[in-house]
Amino acid sequence: MRIILLGTPGGGKGTQAKLICEHYGIPHISTGDIFRRKIKEGTTEGKEISTYTEKGQLVPDRLTIGLVDERLKNDDCQKGFLLDGFPRDKKQAEALDQIMKAKNEQINFVFLIDVPKEIIVERIMGRRVCPKCGESYHIKYNPPKVTGECDVCGTPLIHRADDQEEIILDRLTIYNQTTEPILEFYRNKGILHKIKGDGGIQDIFSQIVTILDGAK
Ligand SMILES: [Zn+2]
Repeated sequence: MRIILLGTPGGGKGTQAKLICEHYGIPHISTGDIFRRKIKEGTTEGKEISTYTEKGQLVPDRLTIGLVDERLKNDDCQKGFLLDGFPRDKKQAEALDQIMKAKNEQINFVFLIDVPKEIIVERIMGRRVCPKCGESYHIKYNPPKVTGECDVCGTPLIHRADDQEEIILDRLTIYNQTTEPILEFYRNKGILHKIKGDGGIQDIFSQIVTILDGAK
């Protein structure tokens, strides 16, 4: 099974990606991971990638698409794969279509984890992190034992500067604008599945498994 997982930032996409890949024994292919590995290897490509990521810019399609194509040629992708963070826009979705056609394959499932805006804001606004050891908390869903202090090292927790409502809403608007054309592209192919993302981790996961198992 060849899967694309889409979802708003803060909507629990990473957790679901991990669960799906473990459950079905397929590789989790994330462009973020590919970039980090290339940078670590210190190749020419890696150096070029870091010139963009260091400035917080998007890595150009020319590089990104080539790297995804290369990754999908690995043996571990024969049984299928899950793409996370790619395609990012309609142009990349079309490029992926070409990659698949060249392999005589196709994407079978596209999942959008749809989380209401208010819930994403609440999740992100309540986030607290430990500046020393990196442990993360949520004031309501995963509070530390002592209010405002890290369980692991006792350091006062902080609310990250970009975890503010206005910034979150801006990020969501931009995300929705670039994602809508991708959704339309896959809706037209009849492989888009919207998943209600306002429940718990297990609830979201079981909706996805029901669809994947039902299609076998
Ligand atoms: Zn800590």
